[in-house]
Amino acid sequence: MSSCPTLSGILLKRNSVLADPLTSLAGIGPKKAAVLKEEAAIETVEDLLYYAPRKYIDRSKVKKIRDCVINETVSVIGKIESTRIAGRGKKFLEVIISDDTDSITGVFFAGAQYFKKIFIPGEEIIFSGKIQFYRQNQIVHPDFDFIDEESSLQTINTAAIIPLYRSTEKLRAAGLDSRGFRRLFRQAFDHYLPLMQDTLPEEILKKRSLTDIKTALFNIHFPATFQDAEEARRRLAFNELFYLFFYLRFSRSCARHVITGNPLEDKKKILSKFTADLPFKLTADQVQAVKEISDNLLDSFPMNRLLQGDVGSGKTVVALAAALTGVSAGFQAAFMAPTSVLARQHFLTMKKLLPEGISAPLLTGQTGQEERKKILQGLAAGEVNIICGTHALIQDAVEFKRLGLIVIDEQHRFGVNQRAALRAKGEHPHLLVMTATPIPRSLAMTVYGDLEVSVIKSRPLNRGSIQTISLPVSRLPGVYNSMKKYLDQGRQIYYILPLIEESEKSDLKAANTVYDHLKDDIFTDRSVGLLHGRMKGDEKEVIMDRFRKGETDILVSTTVIEVGVDVPNANVIIIEHPERFGLSQLHQLRGRVGRAEHDSFCILLYPEDISPESLDRVNVLVNTSDGFIIAEEDLKTRGAGQLLGTRQHGADDFEFTNLVSDIELIAAAREDAEQEVEKTDSSIKPEDINTSLRSTALLAGIRQKRILEILS
Ligand code: ADP
Ligand code: MG
Repeated sequence: MSSCPTLSGILLKRNSVLADPLTSLAGIGPKKAAVLKEEAAIETVEDLLYYAPRKYIDRSKVKKIRDCVINETVSVIGKIESTRIAGRGKKFLEVIISDDTDSITGVFFAGAQYFKKIFIPGEEIIFSGKIQFYRQNQIVHPDFDFIDEESSLQTINTAAIIPLYRSTEKLRAAGLDSRGFRRLFRQAFDHYLPLMQDTLPEEILKKRSLTDIKTALFNIHFPATFQDAEEARRRLAFNELFYLFFYLRFSRSCARHVITGNPLEDKKKILSKFTADLPFKLTADQVQAVKEISDNLLDSFPMNRLLQGDVGSGKTVVALAAALTGVSAGFQAAFMAPTSVLARQHFLTMKKLLPEGISAPLLTGQTGQEERKKILQGLAAGEVNIICGTHALIQDAVEFKRLGLIVIDEQHRFGVNQRAALRAKGEHPHLLVMTATPIPRSLAMTVYGDLEVSVIKSRPLNRGSIQTISLPVSRLPGVYNSMKKYLDQGRQIYYILPLIEESEKSDLKAANTVYDHLKDDIFTDRSVGLLHGRMKGDEKEVIMDRFRKGETDILVSTTVIEVGVDVPNANVIIIEHPERFGLSQLHQLRGRVGRAEHDSFCILLYPEDISPESLDRVNVLVNTSDGFIIAEEDLKTRGAGQLLGTRQHGADDFEFTNLVSDIELIAAAREDAEQEVEKTDSSIKPEDINTSLRSTALLAGIRQKRILEILS
């Protein structure tokens, strides 16, 4: 490691004492340690110190009891006068304390018997909480500290800014409620704080005005002011970001030394002919994306690129250009999509756009035995150039002769293992992942930190406008009239609902019911179709095909049509219960229309009793068509996990970073981490790589175990 001066500088400073097991703290035996590990993933002293408070409450206002005002949150100091179990059915405990001005009652509904034993008359105590009035002034379930508790006169639960920690039933049973945690921190600090060293280079701390690590860790748990707490948080957020980026960049540098993939060059000049022969002209963004991808493909280090583009922005053609480059270089390409409807659509697009002589079949779970056998043979023999498919592509039986490029559509719908399984079918194939969910910049930099990103922002020119309207559901009759008008003009319509069937538990309208109503009562002379996720794959395909061919006028559906479906003749989408969907999801759904020259409409039908906040949220969609603004809004209101889908989040695993408000800090940490890695890059020797990688992973992994899993 001596060959990497800066790197070793950073790594060796890791505080090895902090790796002590929790049992080295007084009061933590094997049992408590096990609970902490299971319930909070805390194994070492370091894990514990970095356990972030979930919020703070202000207990700094100590008042005389006489001066307490109803509804104010305060701390009072007094002597316990008496305790009394009261209540006829459910018992509760009243604890009366008094100071030299007045007395007040603490009320405990839970654990009355237990607390009765703790509160011994005569002891001095602090109660904190909100003053309520019920016959007299009282505080329900006050936080409390005994004044003469041996440890010190300094209070840890009251009369200060008090952090609250995530706790679970098992943790509480082990004495680790917020209060227990605070006591534990107090102990850990007494011994370990003096031993700590800062792991970040001095000049970075200065440049970014960051608090030193000792102060930060102390203040995150025992802040004197809210500003202290925020400065501490900022420093610790920088830490987790810096090491994450350091790890990402560093592993990339290392990988360059050991991985050799296949440069893909358009030897046969297929690409220029392909773009010239397209029935349309590529937009400037598409051209740019194709160029960025082609440049990556020329490198022997495998591409890892994300192609982001709003629905209908034309990502598929760009990916096709990449695939053709691979074919031109003598390799095979694989297109994987999350649903058979989507895979089939890619297949059809290829059929339309690919030049003569390129073999590009479709492989899904529905492919017949005979056909499947033929395709597998063709793949193994190298006769199949491009394969389109679903998860069926990652089955063991699928073997490629020379897989050079992988394209994954709607990549967040796949798990890590699925993507890895496909990659394993080639030798370091290039990877292009696509998503129509615009990803806020903060997430693109963190969760997708190791990806390069191409963005298609402009929509193809030949598109009409999409107008979005929100209406209460009482306006349905008028909506039916508009639907009639567009159907008469030859257009088709999507009608989206959140549920398949109505249920007793909710009053949400369901696809089944609406389908029956439209078919039997409203549009009796039209053809209405029904599509939902509980149908079999081939059944879905038949229904989509009928709609695609124009045989169905109205398609009632759940969100299975959300991704990618391309029926340019459809120009109206009606969505009931928009408040039930994420904004990005609504935006995706809206992207089903506006795919041709016709003017299009998205009608959001909300229930009469919608809350003002929900209506505001829904109206974000009315006010903007910018997918990035919409995604930011989703991030704010629903969090990263929701935004990215359950298959692949981890963004919520940041302990200290706020993905909405820390965008500048994220950018700063990335810049600094990259610079540090650059300093070391040239001096990395292959024999050092394993050790160094492991150490950086350890550092980065302190708080981001899940994210690292995702990226691997
Ligand atoms: P998405 O980005 O949502 O996957 P697609 O690739 O499915 O979008 O493209 C949507 C439609 O637009 C397809 O029918 C495609 O052929 C067409 N398209 C793509 N690029 C252009 C362009 N530059 N001009 C006109 N139409 C285009
Ligand atoms: Mg698509």
